[in-house]
Amino acid sequence: MICNKCGADVPDVSKYCMFCGSRVSKVNYYEDNNEKKDTERRNVYRGIDFDEGDLKNKRTAGLLGVFLGAFGVHRFYLGYTGLGIAQIIVSLLTCFIGGAIWGFVEGLCILCDTAITVDANGNELE
Ligand SMILES: [Zn+2]
Repeated sequence: MICNKCGADVPDVSKYCMFCGSRVSKVNYYEDNNEKKDTERRNVYRGIDFDEGDLKNKRTAGLLGVFLGAFGVHRFYLGYTGLGIAQIIVSLLTCFIGGAIWGFVEGLCILCDTAITVDANGNELE
């Protein structure tokens, strides 16, 4: 077949023109188009992942930790569900003293930017 970019005669089995490197057959043209659509679709998903409205607020998370840390509220807020449940369990086992201290320290760390600077999805806290 003939390459429609450079006009060279390319063997029918080739996917790419050996002279200019562009794709040659009609079938491949559609493949190319599908790849493009896939990329567009992926970008749409990415857009949802990095939705600005979904970013967690550092001050909110920190204050939740300081005041409601015993219940792991700041952990649930940031999406760390397992750690939130762990904090509730520690609180129950220590009459809320252990969980409260844990949450309080974590809350301060979040506010001071020394620990837990990203949420469970890996997004930076704003
Ligand atoms: Zn060519």
